[in-house]
Amino acid sequence: MSSQSTGLRHWRQRFNALFQDHEIFIRTHGHVRFLRISAVWQKRVALIAGLVLFAWAGVTLSVFVNQLLTAGERAEVAQKEAAAEAAEARIAKYRDRVAEIAADLDERQAQLEDWQKTYFGNEALPEGAKTDAAAAEAPKPVETSAIDPRLPPEAQALARIEARQESLAARLLAAVDARATKAETAVAELGLDPKSLVRKASIGQGGPFIPWRGRTGRASALGKSFAALEGALFRMEVLERTLVAIPSGQPAHVLMLSSSYGYRRDPFTGQSAMHSGLDFPGPLGTPILAAAPGKVVFVGRRSGYGNVVEVDHGQGILTRYAHLSGFTAKVGAQVTAGQQIAKMGSTGRSTGSHLHFEVRLNGVAVNPRRFLEAKADVLEVKADARQRVHALAAAARAGAR
Ligand SMILES: [Zn+2]
Repeated sequence: MSSQSTGLRHWRQRFNALFQDHEIFIRTHGHVRFLRISAVWQKRVALIAGLVLFAWAGVTLSVFVNQLLTAGERAEVAQKEAAAEAAEARIAKYRDRVAEIAADLDERQAQLEDWQKTYFGNEALPEGAKTDAAAAEAPKPVETSAIDPRLPPEAQALARIEARQESLAARLLAAVDARATKAETAVAELGLDPKSLVRKASIGQGGPFIPWRGRTGRASALGKSFAALEGALFRMEVLERTLVAIPSGQPAHVLMLSSSYGYRRDPFTGQSAMHSGLDFPGPLGTPILAAAPGKVVFVGRRSGYGNVVEVDHGQGILTRYAHLSGFTAKVGAQVTAGQQIAKMGSTGRSTGSHLHFEVRLNGVAVNPRRFLEAKADVLEVKADARQRVHALAAAARAGAR
């Protein structure tokens, strides 16, 4: 306390020392005047000067600070404007992209709906609990149009639609695959190689003709999952059509010689020879029936076979009926399974009245025994497939009209 007051007193003394009473003599025209400026006056003047200086400094400082602030604000505003412009440019850029994505989604939706309607009709797609659960756990990445998270909301909405579409495509794919696998199992059970059938069909070899709706290549442009779907649909169609084309109907209501296919002693030469069909001995004139739906492509004589009728079932499958005594169908006729096409006989190289029944796959004779002995479960799958193939054909005809 004492030291503080001592310091204060010391400063006051120094301050007071600055201001001392002054006496000024002013001499004007011989007169001397005496002017006294007291220390109190000096202090007042100094105080006023100090206040003025302080006020000026304050104003100057505030103007300066204000200017600084304004510059800062201006910079900030400029920055904001630049950002807004950039965002606008980006939005403008993506607005085109949004339109593009929307058009893309539209096209895909149309394709999906077309496929679903064509192949499944009003049949509900299997919910595929597994697929849905998997999709819920790990939503499929939207790969075809990587959506920018900074995109405007409408683009985000499109991304969500796209994700839903992917999930529908996945369900459709699962349903198609399930059906194709069913047909594949049935085809394999009938003694044919399903993989080879699909491969040959895909390279356009070996006859199987799929009236693909002029869309080949379009799906792959729509994205990976669509290409996968198209591939699965192709496989399903080839296998189901093959299944339908497989002649599993009895070509005559008589017992077949089940051991007659393969190498055997030729009844004429006595030598070992390949017998490429099954024989059905029976009374002359027994009705000969088409073993599967198809088109009569040959009616006439063939060397060794005598009178022959041939029916094309599509998918590279042809049935040949030989040694006939008469015909009841003409070339070009569409026949159903079980429809009479001829009469049993003994023409050509034949030792007695019988039917020689041959099945050719892509021009090569195959043993028809497994077709004719198809089990009920296979026939059921076949009947299902026939229904669908017929519905497809009807829809195609309606569409062509
Ligand atoms: Zn024969």
